[in-house]
Amino acid sequence: SDHTLEYPSSPEAVDWALHFPAAAGPPDFADIGCGFGGLLIALAPLFPETRMLGMEIRVQVSQYVEDRIAALRVTPDAPSHYQNVSIVRANAMKFLPNFFGKHSLSAIFFLFPDPHFKQRKHKARIISPTLLAEYAYVLKPGGIIYTITDVEDLHHWMKSHLEAFPLFNAISEEQLREDGKGPILDAVYNSTEEGKKVERNSGQKWLACFKRVQIEREA
Ligand code: SAM
Repeated sequence: SDHTLEYPSSPEAVDWALHFPAAAGPPDFADIGCGFGGLLIALAPLFPETRMLGMEIRVQVSQYVEDRIAALRVTPDAPSHYQNVSIVRANAMKFLPNFFGKHSLSAIFFLFPDPHFKQRKHKARIISPTLLAEYAYVLKPGGIIYTITDVEDLHHWMKSHLEAFPLFNAISEEQLREDGKGPILDAVYNSTEEGKKVERNSGQKWLACFKRVQIEREA
């Protein structure tokens, strides 16, 4: 459980050079519940100047991703040498602001999050009214939240909560592609292990994306 984990007191307390050796600095993208790391691995070479951090609560899974990145870093000819991706084992629902500073992220990903089907488990969902305030805090104005799921009920849940939150505006897939986010969306749909599983089972994928808006008095 959480008390076995050590957390940095703040993003400033993190030694980012350990995560991003080639160009140290805080992350630009966060993949929350990154699982086996498929998104990070797909995006790393496409955006070599962008630092990306995965967050995963399961010990073995986060260790797997750490090993996977370490192996790619020593593979000759690996594009960008994967110096720009890293992973932490952490409970994102409790410790997000320990890793990500105010208005520091340009993208947050919630890809195929655990559905927690039962009504009494809904408070365990990664998108909830309380947590949305934290996501708005760590996202830059203009930053994007990407959500995708194969569970229709969860899609409507995430979408309705994000729509109800004043700091987020829905942005269509078409608009994002026009804005040059096509490669990101392709990775969101297809690069993760869960996304591939849904593909193999011919399941449907529900995408919902939101832009963090700028409020006058925040500037
Ligand atoms: N995003 C990955 C993908 O698309 O393949 C993984 C999807 S998997 C269904 C959900 C992941 O979220 C699991 O690996 C789980 O351990 C992780 N997770 C669940 N709750 C979490 C939390 N509070 N903090 C960090 N990770 C969490």
